[in-house]
Amino acid sequence: MTDYLKTPIEYLKGIGQKKAEVLKREFNIVTYNDLLFYFPYRHIDKSTIYKINEILTEGNLMQFRGNVVGYQILGQQRNRRLSAQFTDGTGTIELVWFNGINWIEKVLQEQHKDIIIFGKPTQFNGRWNITHPEIIDPNARNDSPVPQLFYPLYNTSDRAKKSGLDSKGVAKLVVALLTQLRQMMIPDHLSKEIIEQHQLISLKEALFNIHYPASQEKLAQATLRLKFDELFFTQLKLLKLKLLTERKFRGHIFAHIGENFNYFYHNRLKFDLTGAQKRVIKEIRADLNSGRQMNRLLQGDVGSGKTITALLVMLIAIDNGFQTCLMAPTEILATQHFENIHRQLEGMNVKVALLTGSTKTTERKEIHTGLLDGSIHILIGTHALIEDDVVFQNLGLAVIDEQHRFGVEQRAKLWKKNTTPPHILVMTATPIPRTLAMTVYGDLDVSVIDELPKGRRPIVTRHFYESDRLAVLGFMKKQIDAGRQVFVVYPLIDESEKTDLLNLTAGFEAMSRAFPLPRYAVGIVHGRMKPEVKEFEMQRFSKGETNILVSTTVIEVGIDIPNATMMVIENAERFGLSQLHQLRGRVGRGGEQSYCFLMSGNKLSTEGRQRLKAMVSTTDGFEIANFDLKLRGPGDLQGTQQSGILDFKIADIVKDEKLMAYTRNLAKQLLESDPNLSKPENQSISEHLQLLMKREKFWGMIS
Ligand code: ADP
Ligand code: MG
Repeated sequence: MTDYLKTPIEYLKGIGQKKAEVLKREFNIVTYNDLLFYFPYRHIDKSTIYKINEILTEGNLMQFRGNVVGYQILGQQRNRRLSAQFTDGTGTIELVWFNGINWIEKVLQEQHKDIIIFGKPTQFNGRWNITHPEIIDPNARNDSPVPQLFYPLYNTSDRAKKSGLDSKGVAKLVVALLTQLRQMMIPDHLSKEIIEQHQLISLKEALFNIHYPASQEKLAQATLRLKFDELFFTQLKLLKLKLLTERKFRGHIFAHIGENFNYFYHNRLKFDLTGAQKRVIKEIRADLNSGRQMNRLLQGDVGSGKTITALLVMLIAIDNGFQTCLMAPTEILATQHFENIHRQLEGMNVKVALLTGSTKTTERKEIHTGLLDGSIHILIGTHALIEDDVVFQNLGLAVIDEQHRFGVEQRAKLWKKNTTPPHILVMTATPIPRTLAMTVYGDLDVSVIDELPKGRRPIVTRHFYESDRLAVLGFMKKQIDAGRQVFVVYPLIDESEKTDLLNLTAGFEAMSRAFPLPRYAVGIVHGRMKPEVKEFEMQRFSKGETNILVSTTVIEVGIDIPNATMMVIENAERFGLSQLHQLRGRVGRGGEQSYCFLMSGNKLSTEGRQRLKAMVSTTDGFEIANFDLKLRGPGDLQGTQQSGILDFKIADIVKDEKLMAYTRNLAKQLLESDPNLSKPENQSISEHLQLLMKREKFWGMIS
């Protein structure tokens, strides 16, 4: 960036101290450069002159060129208006003004022949009219420094508008800036080679045209060029970070497969691994032999068998003389993992320990000792296990379950648990489309288990309205009488929301009435309960002592209760798609046919309806994630918010998927041919990249 672009924004004509402050506070615009990169979200097309007989529908901004053939001032007081008749030879249209009538009258007296009018035609009493059109003199000398064929529209805020910075206000500032920059050189940060190869326009031309395009075509070229930049540099940044990480951190080598793995694989595993599980284990093994630290994301739909895959990898670590840990986001989950793994390894020479917030002091001390002397092989726990006083003798592998619940800093702490950082395997059941994963987790390698174990029956999903309630209760009864259990889930988006809690309690009471003691038992859990009470209720359900568990989304993550074959989701339209999918994954974990009933009111928004339809139509998590992404954009994907990586200014992660993949390859090739970007032809790329890297944090390697 040239120094000139770093000029503080208050030096620009038309900006005082006050506006500068508003720009900074509302839009984070501090320098000329920031304003230059504050792109409009849309343009008004003034490049075309339409004919009156071309008006087909209401609501479009259009311009016409012709004459005013007469006008009248009508009505009294608040109804007073000026009505003019305008024609272009193909038809007549009425122009109406309610304000500034005297002034308009003067304008029309001076000039009524050959003018351009601009506005939104609407239909009134079967005739077309435009209210408050803009009047433009086609013959006026145009000394605007920028083309005026497309007017840019900028996002602003209410506070900014109060300081005169509505869209028009911002547009004016941009004109002032572009005027200043016209003679200025704006160096390109892409290399000549890339620009030529892809026939891109120059950065300067793109920046001018993105604000005030000279033509529709130029606008398209500018958009492409700037999207290209944004995606290319994002990918380059991520790949570069990955390279740095790989070079920086050597990794433990787990060269052989030993007794524990073999014994478990041949004697304990009750099923064949799916093809996808086998492939993923191979991918991980390659990492573990590479001499570099593994940072891998393991994606797989709920129930696809990630945990067992991770356990096998943990056994490999143990066979090579290392300790491992498995971190889960909640105490319930950690306990469940512990019990499962403990049971599966029963009788083997592998010691497993559980460490959570509620582990007693004496036990905690024992665990600390066992970790230090190496007698504990697997430590399972909540984030209690990353506390500083948890010291391992030789931690070789850390597995993180459901990673979106963990912050970056927590992940980083694990790195420090050994002098050579342990290998990291992050498991997530939030399926993210592959291209998105590449971007969000660009610094991690990604493995995908894209196949469910054989014999799983898809969960039958149905959408019901409140009026179907009796039928739903009847179905629940059948399930329960057959010995199965049922989840009933209520939205509690904000845990402090009183009405939500009331709904939940009312729901619990209704269920208790429909399924009365002593024959039936209903439990309830929500996030505002004391942890012991919650735990107690969960345990009761888990042991089969309650038939129905009424709850909020606290049961969303990971809970494994195979006898629960039915889930009723209340107000399902209030949940996001990914969340619905996560919830649904709580049933269908045993051999029985399972059901998910989505309840909604009769009134549904279009989006709500689409979401429920998507849920009914597929049980494939990746399909659902793609759908969600298209419906709501990436902002709502769990785990992506804090990354900041998806805050694209101009690129669209869904629509520009292809360009993203393309630029990723391009960035890869570039780094292969010039890993340090030290060749002279790549100097501009290198400089820009350094600037970007200085500015941002990233995911995998915060050490
Ligand atoms: P995830 O962690 O991906 O949600 P789990 O590892 O908890 O999935 O597996 C879900 C259930 O499926 C567990 O009961 C597990 O024992 C079982 N399972 C895992 N892999 C297979 C397989 N290849 N064949 C049959 N059952 C499997
Ligand atoms: Mg799991």
